[in-house]
Amino acid sequence: MSRRDEPVDFSLLEKPVQFLKGVGPKRAEHFQRMGLLTARDVLYHVPRRYDDASTVQDIADLDVGMEANVIGRIRTKGVIPTRARLRIFQAILEDDTGRITAAWPGQPWLDRKLREGDTILVSGPVKFFHGKQIQPKEFTLLRRASDTDEEGPTPEGTVFVTYPASEHVPQWVLRAVFEKNLDGLLDLVAREEWLPDDVRAELRLLGLRDALDRLHRPSTPAEAEFGRRRLAFDELFFLQLVQALVRHRETVERPGIRFMRTNELVRPLLESLPFELTGAQARALREITEDMTSTRRMNRLLQGDVGAGKTLVALFSMIVAVEAGWQAALMAPTEILAEQHARKLRELVEPLGVTVTLLTGRLGSADRRDALAAIGSGDANLIVGTHALIQDAVAFARLGLVVVDEQHRFGVKQRMALGTGDPAPDVLLMSATPIPRSLALTLYGELDISVLDELPPGRTTIETTLYGAAQRDEVYRRVAGELDAGRQAYVVYPLVEESEKTDLRAATEEFERLSEEVFPEHRLGLLHGQLASDEKDATMRAFVAGEIDLLVATTVIEVGIDVPNASVMVIEHAERFGLSQLHQLRGRVGRGAAQSYCHLVAEPTEGALERLRIFRDTTDGFRIANADLQIRGQGDLFGSQQSGHDPNLRHADLERDGDLLRAAQRIAREIVDADPKLQAAAHARVRGVLRARHAHRLELYEVG
Ligand code: ADP
Ligand code: MG
Repeated sequence: MSRRDEPVDFSLLEKPVQFLKGVGPKRAEHFQRMGLLTARDVLYHVPRRYDDASTVQDIADLDVGMEANVIGRIRTKGVIPTRARLRIFQAILEDDTGRITAAWPGQPWLDRKLREGDTILVSGPVKFFHGKQIQPKEFTLLRRASDTDEEGPTPEGTVFVTYPASEHVPQWVLRAVFEKNLDGLLDLVAREEWLPDDVRAELRLLGLRDALDRLHRPSTPAEAEFGRRRLAFDELFFLQLVQALVRHRETVERPGIRFMRTNELVRPLLESLPFELTGAQARALREITEDMTSTRRMNRLLQGDVGAGKTLVALFSMIVAVEAGWQAALMAPTEILAEQHARKLRELVEPLGVTVTLLTGRLGSADRRDALAAIGSGDANLIVGTHALIQDAVAFARLGLVVVDEQHRFGVKQRMALGTGDPAPDVLLMSATPIPRSLALTLYGELDISVLDELPPGRTTIETTLYGAAQRDEVYRRVAGELDAGRQAYVVYPLVEESEKTDLRAATEEFERLSEEVFPEHRLGLLHGQLASDEKDATMRAFVAGEIDLLVATTVIEVGIDVPNASVMVIEHAERFGLSQLHQLRGRVGRGAAQSYCHLVAEPTEGALERLRIFRDTTDGFRIANADLQIRGQGDLFGSQQSGHDPNLRHADLERDGDLLRAAQRIAREIVDADPKLQAAAHARVRGVLRARHAHRLELYEVG
């Protein structure tokens, strides 16, 4: 095996596809259309499924009602017209054990694609239709009639691979191209091996060459899985490596403040609370104070479900800073949230002699001048505001800690800007979007993470009920009951304007109808994304002040908004929302003492109903997020997080590869801690692969 510190020429695998044997200029175009531009792209174009004797059945064993997965040779074939004008392509398939009809209704064109004598793999249900018949959901052309000089298919000991293919680049073309080129490509990729043998052995991973070999031509499907794990590790590792570089810059190159603990303020604050901290709060606070009192700069994410008590943990962290003689700032995504925070913080800390200064765009010029003066002189201890806090020429006397609420509302750049002061303040980011641990490690690998996985005791659960559209009147009756008792309500719609394609009831029209016909006695407000921001603001304020009883809204309701008097939420077309989104919405109620309700109105399909039941039956945000990951897949969840982070994993599966992910993070951090610029000869290849894979990301984060 070659040495890791030898420079390697990555360009050999970067040559365009038409230089591969069996790929001329015409075919190259079709490859390109599939995103296969270079030899490397082709090498990494691995099968999406594997079949062998353990997954393929004998035709003689098939029975009506089974899911068939068989390999057969086409004996005869043809298109059958039916009375319903549906044209059906049919083929009689044969293996050593028997024959069966395969029928593709509505796909007569297959007659031109398949030939008699072709060997195909088909999978799909076995039905009864003039005898047993397979209706394939999927098929793969394994062998062309013309090149079957040998005997028929013998599944024993052979693994049939199915590649992602296209009309112009079908399976057999891909197979032929790999047959001619794979060995050469493997030789090239072997020279790019970057993973040290000892690490590879420890993680029980294959070498790069072996991994790709097994993926393309395994002798059992399990071997292919071993190959996949290696590619998955590479993906996860290089993402983590970028993040480890960012982390090093943020926490080591920018030295942290060592906050001195006196307990002068922390203790009285603790004693003034009418309750105990939860175990999770105490743990998070310990992790935070450890960061704050060390010379490493804190760059930590505090994750916790709505109501888990993050704000309180943030407050204690800020008080640790104030106690040590520093200022602390709390940054919220909107002015309403900033005002809400300032109000709550004042109640808790003003009795201790700690000042809270609010700085938002709504301040009159005199108030603003006073606020800026207090911030500049150091008289302001805790400062609360929007991102204007860090953008404006706000001169802090001694800013030691910045807490960012709803951190996903801020971009990568904005968060990076927090580290530019001198000294750079410690940073605590907060997120109320529970995401599975694996996803958090992937998206936020540059951060340390604390999790509040426990709610304060004594919360009443929100009663969640599922209704069909026909039961809407019942829902309205229940909402009216709450309004009559002096409470407030939300009605949430997925869209703003009626869309022609769907029967979604648009919030605007429904607002009119609800105001005039359903709740004429009550005060209604409308909130949606098309309103100007001061209109939104005014409506939200009126709702907070109790001047609006029922708020009709699209999903623009502030996640952090706290209206304890709101006790009921109706979510229309609940089937259109992701589970995590539903969870965020539901968190707007159940914030006061009153029993609260969430009514889901849905016209659900089978799958949707199942999802909604999961949601109805649990209030744990992390469990809901995990269910979401399982149902929607990681791609969708990445999509719902902010851009600039989308890791776009092709081989890694966060649910399955948790062990690899943790190892990838650990090893990436070890490497960077030991060699922050990756200058050591031993890291030459790692550096090369990193640049090749993540040039864009390195630039975005300004590292490397
Ligand atoms: P989050 O910011 O995570 O949504 P908050 O910090 O705003 O949650 O807390 C939600 C509510 O729970 C607040 O009214 C807060 O006073 C209360 N609370 C926080 N921690 C505790 C605790 N340990 N025991 C009881 N109530 C708590
Ligand atoms: Mg909060």
